[in-house]
Amino acid sequence: MKLTYKFNNDEKRLDIERLDYLSPLDTEIYVREGDTIYVKDGDYLYINQLIKESTSGIKTYATISGTVELKDGIIKVINDKSDSSFVSEEAVSKIDEVKKEEIIKRCESLGIDYENKLIVNKLKGNSRLLIVNAMDVEPYQFNNNYLFQDNVSILLDTISLISKRFNIDAYLLLNKYDDNNVNAVKKVIRNYSDINLKVIEDVFPFNTNQLVVKKFFKEYKYDDILFLDTFALYKIFYAIKNGLPVSERYITVNLGDPNKAYVIKTKYGANVGEMIKETIKVDFIDKDIYLNNFMRKVKCDNLDSLIVTDNIKSVFIFPKEDILPSKCIKCGKCVDICPVGINPLAKKLDSACIRCGLCNYVCPANINLISKEK
Ligand code: SF4
Ligand code: SF4
Repeated sequence: MKLTYKFNNDEKRLDIERLDYLSPLDTEIYVREGDTIYVKDGDYLYINQLIKESTSGIKTYATISGTVELKDGIIKVINDKSDSSFVSEEAVSKIDEVKKEEIIKRCESLGIDYENKLIVNKLKGNSRLLIVNAMDVEPYQFNNNYLFQDNVSILLDTISLISKRFNIDAYLLLNKYDDNNVNAVKKVIRNYSDINLKVIEDVFPFNTNQLVVKKFFKEYKYDDILFLDTFALYKIFYAIKNGLPVSERYITVNLGDPNKAYVIKTKYGANVGEMIKETIKVDFIDKDIYLNNFMRKVKCDNLDSLIVTDNIKSVFIFPKEDILPSKCIKCGKCVDICPVGINPLAKKLDSACIRCGLCNYVCPANINLISKEK
């Protein structure tokens, strides 16, 4: 599916192609020290069956059905392509009557996490405000955008439920340029009197939670706010409604064309390299590969050993010669754009740096200002 997307002040148009990679050959899970493993070599697994639990209570589930192979600290599930699924008896037909204690209990017993943190720990805090930041963390990433587009009503229902049950005000932050989502929400928001919609005009830099608080919610302490992004919210919805973990997520891939991106819906545990080769049909020979935020210039040497987790958000595959740095032309753009007002040119970056990567983004000389070797 191709979509057109307005981006940035000059309203550039961008083609985003939606692809699916929902039946990988296998999935992999790394075993960490102290993990409790609930499967053994040769076991048959259904989708949603528990595989392991970490010392902090985070549980990992099968996202495809098939046979277990246990080797060298890796739990592999070989896909039998039958999509046989474990069904929970905890499913509820509607979420609007679920009580606060039940929301917490469901998230806790499933051990669902987001970015290696237990979601239930966020819900158990004494938050005074809920902010759902539905903006993506960088301008060339569209995962939250698509998850939101695909699930507008259930995400709004979940925000409304948390607001009511936890007795806190709720704000939904959307990016002005996500006009599909803004229009979809505006059509139905009057049915959700407990959700305040905030459409953010500046795409950047208001996508980091610290800056959101500093700019729009000064009267609150950072620790008093329950921040959820759309993936975390979606996991909570799934736990409440179906009593199950989520097995799929979106990943953005960009091949160096500023007018074109791919958003791939895939399974947790799938191999990232195989996913890109199978769906976009590209190889990585003589390419520079960056993960999650190409402005930060975090290089990835080997896509073939990378698996899909919440920590993998986007992959940027650029021809090598495109991003060679040249000499600083002293234009000052990096200093002007820094949202925390520090000097990105300094030999050692000030500790106030939030590693947003904006200085790298604007630098016409392609200098990596966040690198220690600049
Ligand atoms: S120095 Fe660069 S990465 Fe750090 S906060 Fe400023 S603009 Fe962002
Ligand atoms: S943006 Fe790049 S070229 Fe301009 S002053 Fe900063 S480092 Fe130098």
